[in-house]
Amino acid sequence: MDARDRLRQYLEQRKEMGESDLVLDNLPVEDLMKVLGAPGKGQSADPAVVVRSPLPMPDRERRAHTPLAGVPAQKAPRPAPEPIGPLRPVAEQPAPTGDPIVVGGSITEAAGASHAAHLDSLQAVSDAAAACKRCSLFETAIRHVPGEGNPEAKFVCVGEAPGATEDETGRPFVGRAGNLLTDILKAINFAREDVYICNVLKHRPPGNRNPTPDEIVACSPFLLQQLALLRPHVILALGTFAAQTLLQTTRPIGKLRGQIHRFHGVPLIVTYHPAALLRNPNWKRPTWEDVQLARRVFNTAAGA
Ligand code: SF4
Repeated sequence: MDARDRLRQYLEQRKEMGESDLVLDNLPVEDLMKVLGAPGKGQSADPAVVVRSPLPMPDRERRAHTPLAGVPAQKAPRPAPEPIGPLRPVAEQPAPTGDPIVVGGSITEAAGASHAAHLDSLQAVSDAAAACKRCSLFETAIRHVPGEGNPEAKFVCVGEAPGATEDETGRPFVGRAGNLLTDILKAINFAREDVYICNVLKHRPPGNRNPTPDEIVACSPFLLQQLALLRPHVILALGTFAAQTLLQTTRPIGKLRGQIHRFHGVPLIVTYHPAALLRNPNWKRPTWEDVQLARRVFNTAAGA
């Protein structure tokens, strides 16, 4: 693996953890300098990139739970329920607290305010997404990836957006990350066919870049309508992007997991994205704890 691949892998891991700056771990400074085209050791050509000496493990672990730059880490009273409406881009969202997050109102009410409110089945949502031109992603994607699973499912997994394999197949969470998600579900006694799996965005952003705020606003009504139709007992948000978008927060994933949030009345549990888990096996244990929590909440809601 060359330096560019290692840097990309490193940045993807840190993004999943909600970090906003760069701390070197196993990537030699000189390799990074080559990739960045930076002028010299210890300096970056990009002022947004902070080059520091490697931290000892305990400090690195603490950093994994440090809020994004500019976000205060204070404790504050539980926030009032959020107003009902389409999902908003993270940049517009309120400051985080350490408490479980409540996004108020019912899913049906939230979806009712959107362009997808008239879609009366999951197939209708899929058809509408296939024909959608509300953002430019349809131009570069091969096909839409609406979601798949049991139309009666009460356990819903929500990820960020389709990747390359999903774009080719039209199916969410396929390939290595998808297989891992299937195994994770199996570990809590769900067959993949028992649940519903989808993403916030229904078309792939080119090169797997981050979705833009406009794309989130344009596409989120489809997800809201899917959730309004499914009426799940539990939502499992997979990865930083899905968690922050659904919960309308900039809080890093390390501060979101391990709690029971509320998304328009539905319990929502956050865990790491399976793709991030493949890159960092150290997150297996917290992921296992998260999905066990999700299963317990599901069992309680289902009266099992
Ligand atoms: S990503 Fe969503 S909003 Fe954009 S074109 Fe596809 S379905 Fe429409």
